[in-house]
Amino acid sequence: MSRIYNFCAGPATLPVEVLEEAQKDLVDFRGCGMSIMECSHRGKEYMAVQEEAIANINELLNVPDTHEVLLLQGGASGQFAMIPMNLLPADGVADYTNSGAWAIKAIKEAKNVGQVNVIADCGKDVPTRVPSPDALQQTPGAAYLHITSNETISGAQWKTFPTSEAPIVADMSSDILSRSIDVSTFGLIYAGAQKNLGPSGVTLVIVRKDLAAAGNSTIPNIMRYQTHIDNGSMYNTPPCFAIYILALTTRWLKNAGPEAMYKQNVDKAKRLYDALDASAFYTGTAALECRSDMNVTFRLPSEELEAQFAKESTAAGLMQLKGHRSVGGLRASIYNAFPTDGVDALVAFMKDFERANG
Ligand SMILES: *Cc1c(COP(=O)(O)O)cnc(C)c1O
Repeated sequence: MSRIYNFCAGPATLPVEVLEEAQKDLVDFRGCGMSIMECSHRGKEYMAVQEEAIANINELLNVPDTHEVLLLQGGASGQFAMIPMNLLPADGVADYTNSGAWAIKAIKEAKNVGQVNVIADCGKDVPTRVPSPDALQQTPGAAYLHITSNETISGAQWKTFPTSEAPIVADMSSDILSRSIDVSTFGLIYAGAQKNLGPSGVTLVIVRKDLAAAGNSTIPNIMRYQTHIDNGSMYNTPPCFAIYILALTTRWLKNAGPEAMYKQNVDKAKRLYDALDASAFYTGTAALECRSDMNVTFRLPSEELEAQFAKESTAAGLMQLKGHRSVGGLRASIYNAFPTDGVDALVAFMKDFERANG
């Protein structure tokens, strides 16, 4: 078996143990004579899988009784629409913070639904950053405050979350379960699974039950959080296979120990940032206090060298290091399942590349 080091921002590296388990189960799921993709979603085999996925998330994130874990479809982009549809009343206003590309998409979609107040805007700043949590001029009576916990493209991350009278709604697509958070301080958390939870096709939503219940009831049922709460995330056929991989990935994380994993994430990122800081050849893209532990973004002295770096690293088995097309540069995405060995291999490659081209 030859697995490469995959630095892709999403879909991203999955734990090899999870892939092997899925392979073992693929044709004959735990002795039931068919694959999990062929089982009825209301049958006991699949129900146990979905229950495990939700139980693992409840346990790993210590989700309080006030909140409900939902497994939905439509990705984080679907949530950009669903959030204001449910939570932004016609006569209300929602506060949004602009920290970069993903926040901009969330803002754009919310403006299609209702009134939005962008209360902090550093989305185009270089070095890239997120707003300062203490400097937000929040709108009195806002329906909610939206933040993007980790900007996957720019590599900037909120290290401390703001406090707010309004419920805080957080896009955690690229850093959910990468660090310890207090779910009780959020009104709603959402994440597409394909970065740090599993494959694409399933979207995690953790919503405060009272907010869901008070949400707009005149929108289509499929768009309402309350519908999905009432139906245990089975209002329509769930993405069974994606949820099965989510169950295995969260089980893997429980076995690894979440606290150990969170420490390892900080350590992996530090190895890369130390390499950037030790060199005048490489420049980190994010402001020091906002450096993401999940997506490490950096530049080389010229775009030609960046293209050469991307090409030669690929040839060396370090894949998908090219930065997002909208910003250029390089990006190493190092979610939970990305091994420390791969980070060390990149650091060694960076040193060699600098020696040859610096
Ligand atoms: C990837 C990503 C999204 C978009 O996710 P989809 O599941 O493709 O809709 C949104 N927000 C952030 C922070 C992301 O990293």
